[in-house]
Amino acid sequence: MKSIYINGSWQEGNGPARSIVNPASEDVIASIKDADALQVDKAASAALESFEHSSWRFDASARKQVLLQAASILLKRKDEAASLETGNTGKPIREAELDIEDTAACLQYYAGLLPDFLTETREMEDGTTSLVTKEAIGACGLIIPWNFPLLLGIWKVAPALAAGNTIVYKPSELTPLTAVLLVEILEEAGLPAGVFQLVTGDGTVGKAIVDHPALTKISFTGSVSTGRSIYASCAESMKRVSLELGGKSPLLVFDDVSVEKAVSWAVFAAFFNQGEVCVAAPRFLVQETILSSFQEKLVEQLQQLKAGDPLLPDTELGPVISRRHYEQVSTAVAQAEAEGAQRLCSGRKLEGPGFYLDPVILTGVTQSMDIVQEEIFGPVATIQSFTDPEEAVALANGTPYGLAAGILTENKQLADWVQARLQAGIIWINSYHTPYVNAPWGGVKASGIGRELGPEGLISFTEYKHTNYSSSLSSPGWYHFEK
Ligand code: NAD
Repeated sequence: MKSIYINGSWQEGNGPARSIVNPASEDVIASIKDADALQVDKAASAALESFEHSSWRFDASARKQVLLQAASILLKRKDEAASLETGNTGKPIREAELDIEDTAACLQYYAGLLPDFLTETREMEDGTTSLVTKEAIGACGLIIPWNFPLLLGIWKVAPALAAGNTIVYKPSELTPLTAVLLVEILEEAGLPAGVFQLVTGDGTVGKAIVDHPALTKISFTGSVSTGRSIYASCAESMKRVSLELGGKSPLLVFDDVSVEKAVSWAVFAAFFNQGEVCVAAPRFLVQETILSSFQEKLVEQLQQLKAGDPLLPDTELGPVISRRHYEQVSTAVAQAEAEGAQRLCSGRKLEGPGFYLDPVILTGVTQSMDIVQEEIFGPVATIQSFTDPEEAVALANGTPYGLAAGILTENKQLADWVQARLQAGIIWINSYHTPYVNAPWGGVKASGIGRELGPEGLISFTEYKHTNYSSSLSSPGWYHFEK
């Protein structure tokens, strides 16, 4: 299958061959070859050439049209896109459909900011006028993880294109299929050749993108360890860099809430998309007074979750992404148990093919254990209790991460007191998970640098330029010899 797209034409990769696996059936669903170093070089050069010599970056109305067209084509191909995403990631189809709708909404949102958002006129204190523009940065390298392949891709592609940048795009080596579909859609929407290049492959290809001198910005979503190495490489060449990294988000449950409803939010916060969500909240911090009823209801609800074929509309839990990930998650749970954690419910492998894990809840954990400190990125959550809001905040903030947090309480004053003290980029009060297209998304501490979505996501793909206009040429009025 051709998975490399450079300067408007498709080609096969010249690197190693790779099988793409459906995590629910373990079937090989596609065979592709990685890009080699020369293909990455050609892709980056094509992106730079197109940035420097085409009209793309000067034509906001053409860009707006392409984004709107792409959204409408994607919506027409929604079913196809959703089943492709489910086939490649194992996510339940209901979630994949939501991803496709959110992807289209993101394209429309950034189209809607054009052209006005990019230009502003300001009157200066000396009577002159200034133009403050947000200009495209250049050719950008976009590197994407496997958990929401198309949606997280578009969170970068839509603002990058809206601003007038050109792109070298690399999906995860595990989930390249909807990236190929994305190119087809952009092509049909009228995107000029050279504006968007697709290269597929693993971290070797990603590193070649990061190190390429033709690229001016790297926008990366993925793990903290990869993000750290990208940050260091970008410092060398002063590339602009945005990092959307991992998390270990807490869900704080106060005792004034309905335990039944709080538990449903907890299940959703930790197990949506099998827990393979950067903002997942697998750390339940529960007020001591309701701990036992919370645990009881939690087991009750988890036992009812429907695991199975992700293509069925009522499936609520799919497989994790790969055998390797299945083993990593299982090892993390075993290690926690060896350190004294107790399993409140299962974690057995379901019958049949597929990388299915039953949800695991661990109690008896302490703050310093790896299971509390490190991202597992699977259907595993821990429970800790607290007595007062100060203790809840201390536990919540006590990891290297700071991506998201949830607060469940009917007490608005308490919610405000807590949210002001949490170290997190995104906080939901009495809900969880919704990414709002017009609000910033990203984390503090080890969870990243910069923000996606909202106007902030567009700003991150621009450089400010200030141009000051004096209406006519007069002397500076500084030197004694001026007339
Ligand atoms: P990963 O870091 O292993 O890989 C992410 C991408 O980077 C892949 O495309 C991979 O091929 C590429 N890559 C790997 N090594 C590279 C290198 N040295 N240089 C350049 N690129 C390289 O992460 P993953 O396992 O694909 O994704 C899971 C991680 O992503 C989790 O930590 C999760 O929290 C994080 N994530 C964060 C967000 C967010 O918005 N903050 C969203 C989704 C996922």
